Amino acid sequence: MSKPEKSMQTLRLHTHPQASLRSCFKQTLLSLECLEDNTWMVKTPRGHVHAKKVVVATNAYTRALLPDFWGKITPVKGVVSHLQTESNKTLETNMVHTIPVEIDYISVRDDGSLVVGGGGQTYKTSPNREMMVDNADDSYFPEETRQYFAGYANRNYKSLTDIKFVNDYTWTGCMGFTEDGFPFVGDLTAYGRPNMFISAGFTGHGMPRIFSCSKYLSELIMGKEPATSIPAPFMLSFERMSMQTPYLDSLSEKCGTAPV
Ligand SMILES: Cc1cc2nc3c(=O)[nH]c(=O)nc-3n(C[C@H](O)[C@H](O)[C@H](O)COP(=O)(O)OP(=O)(O)OC[C@H]3O[C@@H](n4cnc5c(N)ncnc54)[C@H](O)[C@@H]3O)c2cc1C
Repeated sequence: MSKPEKSMQTLRLHTHPQASLRSCFKQTLLSLECLEDNTWMVKTPRGHVHAKKVVVATNAYTRALLPDFWGKITPVKGVVSHLQTESNKTLETNMVHTIPVEIDYISVRDDGSLVVGGGGQTYKTSPNREMMVDNADDSYFPEETRQYFAGYANRNYKSLTDIKFVNDYTWTGCMGFTEDGFPFVGDLTAYGRPNMFISAGFTGHGMPRIFSCSKYLSELIMGKEPATSIPAPFMLSFERMSMQTPYLDSLSEKCGTAPV
């Protein structure tokens, strides 16, 4: 700890002559191998780590480590833009537009600027079609979606037609979508992976959910009956674990059209 900030100085801890801390953060996990005694060999490019228990929290990328999650957690990329304005005449409330499957949403910031997300319409044509859904390669930037958001406020709101908005930031990332929309949270022992725990598949809603899911999972890992409760649909069940319907197929069935 450094004073007076009381913040953890990781680099100092690492380089301290008497400290022996091996950090494994930001290491790509190559594979997980279950040993005879039901412990795990975690393989990374910097070497192997022997662990009694492992937690898989890799969300959209889970199927790369656990192949049976192919079809259970599908990578779907999200895009959000920030529309800056100097005008104080902007939207008064947050909005959600559904047209009919794709959802666009707007969050109004205190300074009048807008954060706009969604853009599903732009996922229907190439190259977004191939790159944004069922594809975990996050080196791709969806230029078409950025453009879709750039004029969003002027295009869609009469009251904002003449207001100047500047799309100053656009960001994208890989989300993990499940067919039923709920994450997989729990102990994988009963599903052939002893001492492995999972918390993944947040379907674009991780921010309000991850805290209680992590608390619940930590109690499970300690071998306790969890005092923290999570909604039953988030838990593992044989029904959910045998789910074979990839997100896209099921969306297609329900809505008659997939977003790609
Ligand atoms: C543009 C955008 C807007 C969003 N807006 C919202 C919002 O408004 N509200 C909301 O609730 N959620 C939102 N989300 C979703 C939210 O970001 C996710 O729900 C949340 O990040 C999930 O957290 P996570 O820790 O489960 O997964 P992630 O944040 O995806 O973290 C998974 C981590 O696992 C790592 N990883 C994967 N594979 C390996 C491997 N083999 N080895 C080592 N590391 C690995 C990845 O590098 C990553 O750091 C948004 C997402 C995007 C992209």
